[in-house]
Amino acid sequence: MIGIFGGTFDPIHYGHLRSAVEVEDIFGLTEIRFIPGANPPHREQPVALAAQRMQMLELAIKNRPGLIADARELDREGYSYTVDTLKSLRREFPRLPLLLFIGSDAYNNLTAWHQWRQLFDYAHVVVMTRPGCRRQELDELFKVTQAKEIKELAQNAAGKLFFQRITQLDISATAIRTMIAEKKNPAFLLPDAVIEYIKQHKLYERH
Ligand code: ATP
Repeated sequence: MIGIFGGTFDPIHYGHLRSAVEVEDIFGLTEIRFIPGANPPHREQPVALAAQRMQMLELAIKNRPGLIADARELDREGYSYTVDTLKSLRREFPRLPLLLFIGSDAYNNLTAWHQWRQLFDYAHVVVMTRPGCRRQELDELFKVTQAKEIKELAQNAAGKLFFQRITQLDISATAIRTMIAEKKNPAFLLPDAVIEYIKQHKLYERH
């Protein structure tokens, strides 16, 4: 099974990395692909350039077999729609189960995603939850597709919704950017190599 983590990664931090390692173990994933979005349709535009976000991602996962920095959304013109990303991964991996990992905030907004029902034609969707998080009522489609056990994901290439509780570290890229703009030290919130890159390229120095 292959895991897929989308995001802006502006910059990548230990919140992303820790949850990836945790789901790698829980689901026995053969690899996890971090796929930065070029032009996210649902949010403000990133601060760092796409190429810089990609370079920070590569530095963060260097020497970590199983974690892959995947530039396919950056190579595409126009908006980054997840459904197109999944289609292209499915062409590459015709039979393997693909697991799209999303946070519970993203899940609560899932029905607003472009062609959201089609996501399930290409992948399973795994919602990473944490204690106390609010979960939207299940839509009719979700009721039918919800899997109760991990083995149901392994037995099908796509089509299931699954909820998995994970440890969520209280780290956000927004908080890191603010810290850097305020000349505070972000050490231990993200890898040293990424902090070094941010310094060298003078990223996030202004609000
Ligand atoms: P920003 O603060 O700029 O919105 P972010 O830190 O939330 O950024 P994104 O790149 O937007 O990071 O997040 C990509 C994915 O990573 C999302 O699915 C989000 O749910 C998840 N994620 C973000 N922060 C954490 C965290 N601390 N622990 C686990 N997952 C996280």
